Amino acid sequence: MKPAAFDYQVPRTLDEALALLAGADRPAVPLAGGQSLVPLLNQRRVRPATVVDLNRVAGLAGIRVTADSVRVGAMTRLSDVEADPALTAALPVLAHTAGLVAHRQIRHRSTLGGSLCHADPAGQLPACVVALGARLTLHSTQGARTLDAEDFFQGPHLTARRPGELLTAVAIPRRPGFRHRFEEVSRRGSAGRPLVGVCLAVAVEGPVVVRARLAASGIADRPVRLREAERALVGQPPGTSLSGVLDAASAAADPPGDLHGSAAYRTDMLRTALRRAVTRLVPERNAA
Ligand SMILES: Cc1cc2nc3c(=O)[nH]c(=O)nc-3n(C[C@H](O)[C@H](O)[C@H](O)COP(=O)(O)OP(=O)(O)OC[C@H]3O[C@@H](n4cnc5c(N)ncnc54)[C@H](O)[C@@H]3O)c2cc1C
Repeated sequence: MKPAAFDYQVPRTLDEALALLAGADRPAVPLAGGQSLVPLLNQRRVRPATVVDLNRVAGLAGIRVTADSVRVGAMTRLSDVEADPALTAALPVLAHTAGLVAHRQIRHRSTLGGSLCHADPAGQLPACVVALGARLTLHSTQGARTLDAEDFFQGPHLTARRPGELLTAVAIPRRPGFRHRFEEVSRRGSAGRPLVGVCLAVAVEGPVVVRARLAASGIADRPVRLREAERALVGQPPGTSLSGVLDAASAAADPPGDLHGSAAYRTDMLRTALRRAVTRLVPERNAA
């Protein structure tokens, strides 16, 4: 199919882009890497009056690592997130998770901002930024605001982004002492769209976990923080007492059942992904 006719605008600055999005009488949509938007346009599931191409807007791409945070511009390609040496050193789980999305060719076009704004409940990166406690900055002609990643995702392909707003940057706090792991289960192995994924971050002091953050994809209409499972992890030696953690996680799951897998199967796969995440975080001698 071909898309319905639309006006195509290529702004060079953020102000120009925001003015185009704000000034539209009929819906205007931002275009980032186009890996999700272009198919939707071609299928006429999205019929905007205007497409605002962000690819030439100065200053929207780039990675900055400081002592406190990792900041990634919304237009940063996933291939750059995956390969950036400073980011990989500071927050390897983000680089690893970006590298799980789709295929290399797609990651050369896809952006972090597009992947978050597309808000696929099974997407790896939304769950990753929720677990990592990212803060998302949005700009409009009215100014800027910042949201917790957890508040950004509101349903399948639904976010807290208001009409006329652009996601401009994602800032992830660095948490010294935390160890991370992202695990997914995909029917087609790597590069297949995952059924479920989990992102786990734990801090260990002495023999026990003292803090844990855990989020999952593919088990609800949006990425979900699994707080009961986090609580079940705290106070335990990492990698042990797994059944309580898995039970708490599956109790929080409300997965859809579809042709890719029933709700019961997805819940089972959540347990599999989480078991792998917990056991692969810890030294071999503790692995369950
Ligand atoms: C073959 C294939 C396999 C895939 N596999 C996976 C996978 O395994 N996991 C996964 O999560 N995804 C997968 N995807 C989806 C794809 O990688 C992401 O959806 C894609 O990364 C979206 O990013 P993009 O930059 O291409 O955004 P676009 O397609 O350009 O935009 C996506 C949406 O976000 C909006 N948008 C984009 N940027 C902004 C911004 N800065 N501010 C506000 N709104 C914005 C657009 O208007 C649009 O609604 C796959 C896609 C393909 C084609």
